[in-house]
Amino acid sequence: MIKQEYNDHLRVLPGKKIHLKDFDTGWTQIEGLKEYGKDKLKEHVNILLQQNLVELTSAQQLLYADDRYSLLIIFQAMDAAGKDGTIKHVMSGVNPQGCQVFSFKKPSDEEMNHNFLWRYMKNLPERGRIGIFNRSYYEDVLVVKVHPELLKNLPDGKRNSAFWENRYEDINTFERHLVRNGTVIIKFFLNVSKEEQKKRFMDRLMRPEKNWKFSAADLSERAYWTDYMHAYEEAIRVTNTESAPWYIIPADNKWVTRALVADIITSTLRGLELKFPKLSEAQLEMLDEARKTLEAEA
Ligand code: ATP
Ligand code: MG
Repeated sequence: MIKQEYNDHLRVLPGKKIHLKDFDTGWTQIEGLKEYGKDKLKEHVNILLQQNLVELTSAQQLLYADDRYSLLIIFQAMDAAGKDGTIKHVMSGVNPQGCQVFSFKKPSDEEMNHNFLWRYMKNLPERGRIGIFNRSYYEDVLVVKVHPELLKNLPDGKRNSAFWENRYEDINTFERHLVRNGTVIIKFFLNVSKEEQKKRFMDRLMRPEKNWKFSAADLSERAYWTDYMHAYEEAIRVTNTESAPWYIIPADNKWVTRALVADIITSTLRGLELKFPKLSEAQLEMLDEARKTLEAEA
């Protein structure tokens, strides 16, 4: 297990103003881990990742059996930060029946005709399940804040700071409602640097088998990098709560991202003290009867 103090370091403290520039996107962000050196750390972290993946498999079974909580994991990031790869790796050992991934793209006309939380509400995880949002309602205070022209069909009114404050409040209230009803929420911002994004885009452009991953929109959105960083800083600051915390994950090295995300998910599940349901006397008697019946078969 990566020591709790390292995870604590990544967790944004409620009420704290954040400057993403102060968060290292590489592997050296965490003081206590720096001393290992890159190669040793990579080796160590990969072992931890494997251990966590094994633990996650059984934790998910227990989440299902316990049937009191659901787990909602939100991934937000700039393009090419590694959301897809992280989800694929971290969830690789989890029973697909207990886990669903939803990727939210530009809303459809039908979705635009409803309140902005509608499409996310419809896809929340049931009790006992893990739901992963690859992008989420946070897009409605990120891409939409950077491009306010995306706001359509709303009643008249200024799209000023009060408008965005109201949206943050809607999100906080929505999350509070979910938490009170047994949904555990973890929010990850995969923090990739602008330089690393360029490298990954170049890789997509240079390697024919990766060409399909590149879209022209990736480049046009990159031009708004600073606006996005401000939108993220503000959204994270205002919506980072004790019960629905944000974690800022260094994302320039995929092995770091995956290990940290897996560790935070497993330690969150561990903290729930999940248990197999306790059977009543009557249920135990029924099992005893069933066993006797089977044993009595010829
Ligand atoms: P990939 O890693 O494959 O690029 P992606 O999540 O970036 O994955 P895309 O299809 O490239 O998927 O992009 C989805 C786009 O949809 C993003 O640009 C995102 O900002 C946009 N989007 C998501 N939610 C909303 C929303 N509520 N309003 C407007 N645009 C949105
Ligand atoms: Mg994209």
